[in-house]
Amino acid sequence: MRIGIPHFGNVYIPVKAMANKLGAGGEDLIIPPPTSQRTLDLGVKYSPVEACLPYKLTLGNLIEACELGADTVLQARGTGICRLGYYAKNQEQILRDLGYDAHFLTIDLSRHKLASILNMIKTLCHGAPWPQIILAFRFGMGKLFALDRIEKEVQKVRAVEIEKGLANSIYREAIQAIDEARDNKEVKRLNREYIDRLKRVPRGPQADPLKIALAGEIYVVIEPFANMDIEMELGKLGVEVERTLTLSRWVKYSLFLNRLGIDEWKEVHKAALPYLKRDVGGDGWESVGEKVICARNGCDGLIHLAPFTCMPETVAQNIMRSTKEDLPVLTVLCDEQMAKPGMMTRLEAFVDLLQFRRKRRRDKGNIKVFSNRLPVCHSEERSDEESHRDPSPELDSGSG
Ligand code: SF4
Repeated sequence: MRIGIPHFGNVYIPVKAMANKLGAGGEDLIIPPPTSQRTLDLGVKYSPVEACLPYKLTLGNLIEACELGADTVLQARGTGICRLGYYAKNQEQILRDLGYDAHFLTIDLSRHKLASILNMIKTLCHGAPWPQIILAFRFGMGKLFALDRIEKEVQKVRAVEIEKGLANSIYREAIQAIDEARDNKEVKRLNREYIDRLKRVPRGPQADPLKIALAGEIYVVIEPFANMDIEMELGKLGVEVERTLTLSRWVKYSLFLNRLGIDEWKEVHKAALPYLKRDVGGDGWESVGEKVICARNGCDGLIHLAPFTCMPETVAQNIMRSTKEDLPVLTVLCDEQMAKPGMMTRLEAFVDLLQFRRKRRRDKGNIKVFSNRLPVCHSEERSDEESHRDPSPELDSGSG
């Protein structure tokens, strides 16, 4: 059995680690080349035109895996209210039409996720004993958590480093080192070492970066090719990115803590309730709640990443416009028409707007302190003026 997987952020690293621990060689696991323009071209060429970007990119990955000899491929499935439910069935047919007789193995992301994943590992490793599977799973998850912790630190450092690009080069080294680590002890040591190195990166003496949250559909938020490395680009513009959607968080809650009744989205759903009372599929409900929470937490703005034609995020986008929370939102629609120069122009304009807004708020704050010492009539005039809220622009970006 030669198993091909689609890319999704750094997920190939824990998958590779598990396969190695279970004795699967390089020829058993086919990791397609990193997602590229060719992957996208293949996905676009063979997908239905209205399919969302995650569908097209993962199809491109699976075609590339089949070209390298995969006879079995992994794909997610779910029973939610969006297209994820038909990804596997549809892509299987497309691969057949292209002459690849690949067997599809699916991971159910709606129910029994942990059992579904462990059973799949057992099938793939030809019935290895459960203790060995659990040890391999722990090893893979150790790598995933370490990578996400390092990435979180990188998001802070990129915004304030004096030598631009240093945090990225340390991050690239960390990815490679963790990918090559052979046991849990080494993963933990690398985790500590790389976070220390990042903390020691020289920073601007008065750095006070803008904080922008990133929310939206999980695939385009996590997969850098799908969002054109938006986090890195924001870092270059001196912005600290805050992102709650990570693979390790998904694993921690969806596979373990949710089973104990702990719901990581409880607060976010509660925050969204005045505007949206139910799940609309994908991550739409969470996107609305994230806007409310980010406004409360003092973020400067929010970038909403939405695949073009994605129904849940289209619902969220329209609701976000009308919430009373005072937080600028830039919606970036991700599809194959998206071009980097166009996206950069929008990011730069958004960052300028947020900087201007922050400065104006601070200036107003200073005036307020000063006005407290003025005679009452002046103070009242000022407070009337201050009660006028800053506009909370919602900037929709088309693709291109
Ligand atoms: S949430 Fe949107 S982008 Fe993701 S699979 Fe569903 S329809 Fe596609």
